[in-house]
Amino acid sequence: MDLGIRGKRALVCASSKGLGRGCALALAEAGVDLVLNARGAEALEATATEIRDRFGVSVEAVAADIVSEAGRAQVLEVAGQVDILVTNAGGPPPGMWTDWNREDFIAALDANMLTPIALMKAQVPGMMERGWGRVVNITSQSVKAPIPQLGLSNAARTGLTGYVAGTARQVAGQGVTINNLLPGAHETDRIRSFEANLHQKSGRPVEEIRKERTATIPSGRYGTAEEFGQTCAFLCSQHAGYIVGQNILLDGGGINATI
Ligand code: NAP
Repeated sequence: MDLGIRGKRALVCASSKGLGRGCALALAEAGVDLVLNARGAEALEATATEIRDRFGVSVEAVAADIVSEAGRAQVLEVAGQVDILVTNAGGPPPGMWTDWNREDFIAALDANMLTPIALMKAQVPGMMERGWGRVVNITSQSVKAPIPQLGLSNAARTGLTGYVAGTARQVAGQGVTINNLLPGAHETDRIRSFEANLHQKSGRPVEEIRKERTATIPSGRYGTAEEFGQTCAFLCSQHAGYIVGQNILLDGGGINATI
């Protein structure tokens, strides 16, 4: 399917690896020029080079912390005005509800709520002026069903979801859509470190932890960054202009709910 976005320009945050990288690859496949970002320059450059070589689109890479004000300013300066914005950052650490203090909550809110909001505030007005734009926020299945060990994530991402629900409806009339993509378990470094953490705490083999988890997923496997990225690219396509303020769950059926 032609997504109808060849020649558009996208900023994909936190995209040297994992789900962000999957989104960048799928957008590049659709002919979109990219600005990529991550903190570590080496993996970022490797991803940028791979995308240029495979798809022939223009790729600029900005090594910076998207959560810090200075890092975000650096990224936004290189990006200029984009047509497509994919927000993403690392997720907060796991723990127990008794572990976290005010600073931990502020850090989680900064990374997973206030950073995407700042990026939208920087980019959406220009999209509205030009009459076309797409924003996809990478959030988490924890918005629909809380993950007990990820209380910081549950809290921060739900805040972002509430903000998007209202804002998406204020900008849709100018051709801009804002939606959230909610990953369930996907095969990335993030889930591998989550499993390693459970292994460290319980002493149980990682294979056993993984087998137990996949048994709770009707698809019987973890998702891939590639299929996640393709869904993101569709949400950014011309065909998705009537999808507004939605929370699209990609979890292999893991959350057992009718709606
Ligand atoms: P990942 O494989 O660990 O990749 C994270 C990417 O983000 C890397 O490119 C990393 O590069 C970059 N990054 C992290 N913090 C950054 C920052 N402050 N500034 C700029 N770049 C940053 O993680 P993932 O699995 O793709 O997860 C992406 C998001 O989805 C996370 O918020 C995660 O919590 C959420 N999520 C993932 C899953 C899953 O199963 N994978 C499930 C639910 C939710 P650098 O480290 O070099 O910066």
